[in-house]
Amino acid sequence: MSHRDGAPSSRVLDCWGTRPDAPPSTASAAVRPRRDPGSGDTPPDDWCSVVSALPDEPLAPEWLAVPADPNDLVPAVWPASARRDDDGELRLGGVRVSELRARFGTPLYILDEDEVRAHARRIREAFDAAAAAHRTRSRVYYAGKAFLSADVVRWVSEEGLRLDVCSRGELETALAAGADPARLGFHGNNKSVAVLERAVEVGVGTIVVDSLIEIERLGAIAARLGADRAGIVQDVLIRVNSGVHAETHDFLATAHEDQKFGFALDEAHAAAARIREMPSLNLLGLHCHIGSQIFGAAGFAESAARVVDLHAELLAGGDLPLLNLGGGFGIAYTAADDPTPIEVLSSAIVEAVARECEVRGIAVPTLAFEPGRSVVGQAGVTLYEVGTTKPVSLGERGERLYVSVDGGMSDNARPALYGAPYSARIASRAGTGDPVLVRVVGLHCESGDIVVEHEYLPADVTPGDLLAVPATGAYCHALASNYNHTPRPPVVAVRDGHARLIVRGETLADLLGRDAGLDAVPEPAESSAAQPGSAGEGEA
Ligand SMILES: *Cc1c(COP(=O)(O)O)cnc(C)c1O
Repeated sequence: MSHRDGAPSSRVLDCWGTRPDAPPSTASAAVRPRRDPGSGDTPPDDWCSVVSALPDEPLAPEWLAVPADPNDLVPAVWPASARRDDDGELRLGGVRVSELRARFGTPLYILDEDEVRAHARRIREAFDAAAAAHRTRSRVYYAGKAFLSADVVRWVSEEGLRLDVCSRGELETALAAGADPARLGFHGNNKSVAVLERAVEVGVGTIVVDSLIEIERLGAIAARLGADRAGIVQDVLIRVNSGVHAETHDFLATAHEDQKFGFALDEAHAAAARIREMPSLNLLGLHCHIGSQIFGAAGFAESAARVVDLHAELLAGGDLPLLNLGGGFGIAYTAADDPTPIEVLSSAIVEAVARECEVRGIAVPTLAFEPGRSVVGQAGVTLYEVGTTKPVSLGERGERLYVSVDGGMSDNARPALYGAPYSARIASRAGTGDPVLVRVVGLHCESGDIVVEHEYLPADVTPGDLLAVPATGAYCHALASNYNHTPRPPVVAVRDGHARLIVRGETLADLLGRDAGLDAVPEPAESSAAQPGSAGEGEA
């Protein structure tokens, strides 16, 4: 099932509470999830059409099956290392969650190093094999915006991936972590003069240009800096907008889309001509990214056909050795998600490109891909502690059990931003109660502060339990905020029975330290940075 085809898990927001026989609620129809910034993680148009089909649980969405065992760990959603010890406690990367809580506190982002490496390797090998089958080569860039830290830069580099960055901060993190600049790709629709200078200066491998103004800017910078570097020219790709979008059911008919990224297909000729006039720039080829959390190959294939068409036309003006088709490969967030295996997806995409090239009688270029979510998503688990539980009466519609945890939209904005689905399990023990429908919520001052909108947990879930939410490796830490002055949690890597801090958590002192108004206070109250029971309690 795919989000484009109407995945159950993508159309759950505010569908709760509507009986199959009840008219659609106007209140719920007014709330519409928005899109993933830059990645297009979006529910289909019929997102609110799902109502419960379970007569005994009218509040549950149709896609959510009652688990035979509400302590089970569905393999598609959890890291391969996830297991329960004999006493029922969850172990990740060989480390018990009680040990993680004792050392690092909650909320806590846990990243399974072997899982990241295994996904990186598997994706690279899949595209290598698919490319080799059509006598070409592939390059796989990890899209660092999904989750970036020095350790992750090293892991993916060691697994043979290149790295995409799209801001000064991401670029500096990659460089500081020792990434080879020649293996970096640089994205963005509004790169400043300063950041372009820095990128050219350090020798970033490819810069993906997004506008005519940027081409002028970059050409001038590369000419100036290239003069000092014995005439070295900057390799660039042109980002185009194929008119195919992951969010849409039907591929858009026109390439003139109302969004900020890239050139329309028919505008790319002018961009290519201008780049080819500039001796300081070298046009490597085209770039296209159609969206995120995509489950099938059809959208990629349709987009590839359109982009190869343009690629073939532009060959008249010179070589184009590279074609970058972006990222966006979907992962499972719940047991209802069934993403296409990367081996199947990669061979379908490369096959589609090869077919289009053959029709036009041109060579298949080297193909580049940029997965982010599918490298790190499944490797991440967020650990929370349950603080309160509360049955909330919905009148004749029944009752919903709300389970409140010590984090929320500040550590995972995706449910609030796009109605993204997740799942959860009690982690500190195996529950003994029958499955009961719950909603896991955070501690923030928003009713939309939802961690897991619909899940079945053992009915004995209780304050003090540790709760684990899987598939949080991508776009959770990356989108974290300090909403309600909540310190951002640390990130810990687990592997072979050992846990290691890879991103320090913020403390209350960090938060107060940014408040310039406190500079005037001679003696900041010391107790405020280390108050027991405060939001920063237990943080390492
Ligand atoms: C976000 C993004 C990606 C990665 O998308 P995923 O869904 O995380 O694979 C790749 N390329 C570009 C240009 C992006 O903006």
